[in-house]
Amino acid sequence: MLNENFLKLSGSYLFAEISRRVKAFKADNPDAQVISLGIGDVTQPLCSAVTEALHKAVDEMAQQSTFRGYGPERGYEFLREAIVENDFRARGIDIDADEIFINDGAKSDTGNFQELFASDIRVAVTDPVYPVYVDSNVMSGRGGEPDALGRWTDITYLPCTATNGFVPELPQGHVDVVYLCYPNNPTGTTLTRGQLQLWVDYALSHDVLILYDAAYEAYIRTPDVPHSIFEIEGAQRCAVEFRSFSKTAGFTGVRCGYTVVPRQLTVRDSAGRRVQLNPLWNRRQTTKFNGTSYLSQRAAQAIYTPEGKSQVRATIDYYKENASLMREALTDMGMRVFGGTDAPYLWLQLPEGVSSWQFFDIMLNQANVVCTPGVGFGPSGEGFVRLTAFGRRESTTEALQRIKTQMTI
Ligand code: PLP
Repeated sequence: MLNENFLKLSGSYLFAEISRRVKAFKADNPDAQVISLGIGDVTQPLCSAVTEALHKAVDEMAQQSTFRGYGPERGYEFLREAIVENDFRARGIDIDADEIFINDGAKSDTGNFQELFASDIRVAVTDPVYPVYVDSNVMSGRGGEPDALGRWTDITYLPCTATNGFVPELPQGHVDVVYLCYPNNPTGTTLTRGQLQLWVDYALSHDVLILYDAAYEAYIRTPDVPHSIFEIEGAQRCAVEFRSFSKTAGFTGVRCGYTVVPRQLTVRDSAGRRVQLNPLWNRRQTTKFNGTSYLSQRAAQAIYTPEGKSQVRATIDYYKENASLMREALTDMGMRVFGGTDAPYLWLQLPEGVSSWQFFDIMLNQANVVCTPGVGFGPSGEGFVRLTAFGRRESTTEALQRIKTQMTI
């Protein structure tokens, strides 16, 4: 018998529908040069510190004396130590290498972590949301049924709208686990230290676990925006953090990220005893995951060298410059734009009465530019589209020029 929860999920409707519409448009308009501001993938190549480390690691693999097979289960110490030193100690956060689990990117762990919990726990997500949190819980039977708006009856949705400044309100009813993602995909907005402290205080007082996705941490420059939830007092007792090198260093094809599961973090068992999550996640990983390649881990280590740091920062600055050009141009056109300051995503509010799919079609037809309809990330995304700053500079400026001169909305 099938796990029929899988049947409840539609295929990846959003991106399949985007590509269907773009394909149809191109078939009707073979000369149109379509530019995508919808992609969530990076376009700039790996920096030289990373490629040199990769070449060196490949050469090691070719020698009997330096060849490496299976690596340590939590990841190589050289990488976990570099992470501890640079991502945490440098920010005054006391995280130990044993609390770091290297993975093949944040998608796996953000999707898999829910396996540690009972099937009847209540999950809360922000709306709009990165779909992996919702879909992985639906697969495990925690979704209930979809309602008319596409929300799952057993999942608690926390609307993030222009009205609340995209800051989710604390849940009204009981929840066990909350997924938070900051800087946010898709809205590109962030939480201040004070706003995140409220969440941590809530989690500690209500025995709620926060699964904190900081995949876009590297884009933060505003001083009051925390880079890690562990900058917040008490967070090591109530939160897990997911990080990724994908958008930090162009690792979407290399594959490497990590998860922080603090030793202090415990959850209840059915007898009310407190159980540490760190050894359980280790148990899960050692059973189901055989590690990230040595090559990827050496590549990731190189990001933390002085050259690596400055090269990676230059690429992030390039995308951030795209984002700021986009913000400026769209705002000048009279549009209301959120995000894009500490994130590679811009969340564009549409004129009253224009749906996100209608805007998608208008933008495609009039400017030959692709965006991502906000409603695809949840009902509160209706009335918005997501634009990404990951394009090449020339295509980004060309797209802005076309939006300005060819669009009549
Ligand atoms: N988390 C968020 C919010 C994302 O947007 C993405 C990628 O788009 C990921 C996690 C997964 O990234 P990766 O698996 O490439 O590390």
